[in-house]
Amino acid sequence: MKTGISYFGNRNPKWVKKDMVDIVEHNCNFVLHTFSEYDRIFYKDTMKEIMHISHKLGLDVYVDPWGVGGVFGGEALSHIISNTDIHQVDSNGNRLPACCINNPGFIEFIHQWIEDAKYIGGDVLFWDEPHFYSVKNGWACRCGYCREEFKRKYGHNMPDDIDDEVVEFRENSIVGFLQKVTGYGKRLGMKSAVCLLPEESSKPNVKDWAKIAGMESVDIIATDPYRYHESDFEERVRTYANRIFRMAKNFGKEGQMWVQCFSIRKGDEWKVKRAVKIIFGEGIRNIGAWSYDGTSYMSYIKCDNPKKVWGKLKEGYRVCT
Ligand SMILES: [Zn+2]
Repeated sequence: MKTGISYFGNRNPKWVKKDMVDIVEHNCNFVLHTFSEYDRIFYKDTMKEIMHISHKLGLDVYVDPWGVGGVFGGEALSHIISNTDIHQVDSNGNRLPACCINNPGFIEFIHQWIEDAKYIGGDVLFWDEPHFYSVKNGWACRCGYCREEFKRKYGHNMPDDIDDEVVEFRENSIVGFLQKVTGYGKRLGMKSAVCLLPEESSKPNVKDWAKIAGMESVDIIATDPYRYHESDFEERVRTYANRIFRMAKNFGKEGQMWVQCFSIRKGDEWKVKRAVKIIFGEGIRNIGAWSYDGTSYMSYIKCDNPKKVWGKLKEGYRVCT
């Protein structure tokens, strides 16, 4: 049984050590460290020390390209999106604040990120919620690289208006991108987990999960159905856990589910333990939670009662382990 928690917001090894001990005491055996562009530029060797501390305490370490290029999930801001040669373009020709995954420059940038993830000591690369930019009036991406690739695949120009072929092209673009980056990670000796957005997400992403689960270089297939404040949360968590379980079984992969430990409202703390029990009951043996200590240190999404949430997760994990 694998149980873990994500960790960010502190890069002082002195306090990281204290928190990692707390994480182990909360029945976790893996930790996900975010590795944003900011971390990579200014904290690379500090991150290596943080990974070392985590490993010494017996934790497996996931590394997450948090908000990198505006392509993955996460609150971290991106620096590379200011590069004028690498961004997505919407159907009205506007530059967007996100990189294009069909751009060779961005693929190279991610390869370098992977090399650094290896350097700091990552065990598992966590490709979180890869998606195209969500445009209000129009769609993306219609950059030169996308148009060129589209024409090569479909034999005609990319249309101005979105149609089924564009939707299919975008999905296959994400699949192709993940094939490249997970393959590169594998060659460097690291596993890959892909966390797919739940169906109801408005961000253009991968709907056919079999395309990801069937990839040789993907080891773990995951999803993160949050919104625990909604009344149907138990049904949603169960449905998604079951879907991940079946998908993982069909393709001989490890299934993983993520539990919400941020923005949990007062009185809803029990839902965290309940979600863990539901997921475990559906056969999933790899559970992660977002984030450490009820996300007490990020005011934007902290729980109303972070300590209680963190305690409920501990109780939930104890039942599983
Ligand atoms: Zn593009």
